[in-house]
Amino acid sequence: PMAFKERPPYSTESSSSLHKKTHFLLVFVNRSLAMEKIKCFGFDMDYTLAVYKSPEYESLGFDLTVERLVSIGYPQDLLRFVYDPTFPTRGLVFDTMHGNLLKVDAYGNILICVHGFNFLRGPEIRELYPNKFIQRDDTERFYILNTLFNLPETYLYACLVDFFSNCDRYTSCATGFKDGDLFMSFKSMFQDVRDAVDWVHFKGTLKEKTVENLEKYVVRDAKLPLLLSRMNEVARVFLATNSDYKYTDKIMKYLFDFPHGTAHRPWQSYFDLILVDSRKPLFFGEGTVLRQVDTATGRLKIGTYTGPLQHGIVYSGGSSDIVCDLLGVKGKDIVYIGDHIFGDILKSKKRQGWRTFLVIPELAQELHVWTEKSCESPTITFVSFNRLMSSLSLSFFLYRHLDSSSNERPDISAIQRRVKKVTHDMDMCYGMMGSLFRSGSRQTLFASQVMRYADLYAASFINLLYYPFSYLFRAAHVLVSSIWLLADCFLM
Ligand SMILES: [Mg+2]
Repeated sequence: PMAFKERPPYSTESSSSLHKKTHFLLVFVNRSLAMEKIKCFGFDMDYTLAVYKSPEYESLGFDLTVERLVSIGYPQDLLRFVYDPTFPTRGLVFDTMHGNLLKVDAYGNILICVHGFNFLRGPEIRELYPNKFIQRDDTERFYILNTLFNLPETYLYACLVDFFSNCDRYTSCATGFKDGDLFMSFKSMFQDVRDAVDWVHFKGTLKEKTVENLEKYVVRDAKLPLLLSRMNEVARVFLATNSDYKYTDKIMKYLFDFPHGTAHRPWQSYFDLILVDSRKPLFFGEGTVLRQVDTATGRLKIGTYTGPLQHGIVYSGGSSDIVCDLLGVKGKDIVYIGDHIFGDILKSKKRQGWRTFLVIPELAQELHVWTEKSCESPTITFVSFNRLMSSLSLSFFLYRHLDSSSNERPDISAIQRRVKKVTHDMDMCYGMMGSLFRSGSRQTLFASQVMRYADLYAASFINLLYYPFSYLFRAAHVLVSSIWLLADCFLM
């Protein structure tokens, strides 16, 4: 870790050789950000401060959702399902008309289409989706599974479609399943799962089971209190979580509980302002009434809080404007750190102009694939892939003596086949649905949103520990990277 202070990550070395072993500690930059201008750090809690252990936490959510479905009348056989973390990738789209999981790019072009566990081929996809394209603004039909909380249900949609497709009692049709006179549409199945997931989160036992066994489900890192105390020396720090006070208190107590540390402090002392039940994304717009929480009982005090900011008071509700007023900061002074691309990042940036830091826990694993897998199998490295793409650009030179009058057709099929093979091999290293960010050389919808709305992103916000608070995070110049690509092309 110390190496970062001496050799900052914007080093001009090519990315393949840069800090091979410590990639996952880097902070990535989409837009330049001068840390010394930042006066305030805001935090989300779930999957940001509190990282849930994978796959234990997803398995718990999956099992509870299945139990709920069975309790409302779904077949008992469903209880045999076991969550498989190698299947789902975050950011997939569920088509409630045909029951398919889709991986799409920023424009709605389909990259992967799977029905149950059956991966559809090009012609089959085109039959259902003309031009292999979806109108993803049609939110009535297409549901984006964008958050880490969506992972268990992503796998569950595949399990259910697979189960009903292979069950003798049911007949498959284009929009659902028939069982005698009964018709179960994919849409109603989807709605049942969504309701079950919400029930598990808000009325069921997910939270109870999590706090009963925190060591099993929540990652605890001694670097957290260290980073927060350092942040608190140079800036104001606040927490804005959608969770309620009782749950927040139990999780935060656990996260900051290091009795053998030099200065053991209650978790509340690390924050200048604590907001629970924050109702993001509403929080970044009109918000809700600010009320004070009675920390002894967990109940809300009646009336709106109008007093000055007091250390240690816990508030419920509020809005981003209230945060600025109470802390005396402006939007541009704030870096908000969260894991939810829509609720934390897109809304805070679009509606309030806050600076944004997106936590992407999968990044650690994705970077591991880029760097480690390449050692095991040199045919599927980032470098070999880039070389291959360059050689495809090189095929351009086969056309150099030709113009619109030429009948000659240079044969580039061999190189196209190789690109396809390497792309597939690479995708399979990430899991069955491939990488969160790409499908071969094409970017996913999720990746395009990250680039558009997250100023900074990393596997964990703890990575900020390895940068001084005077650091200038500098975005790579777009022109520069294309020059690198061209150089690569000529070096072949
Ligand atoms: Mg969160």
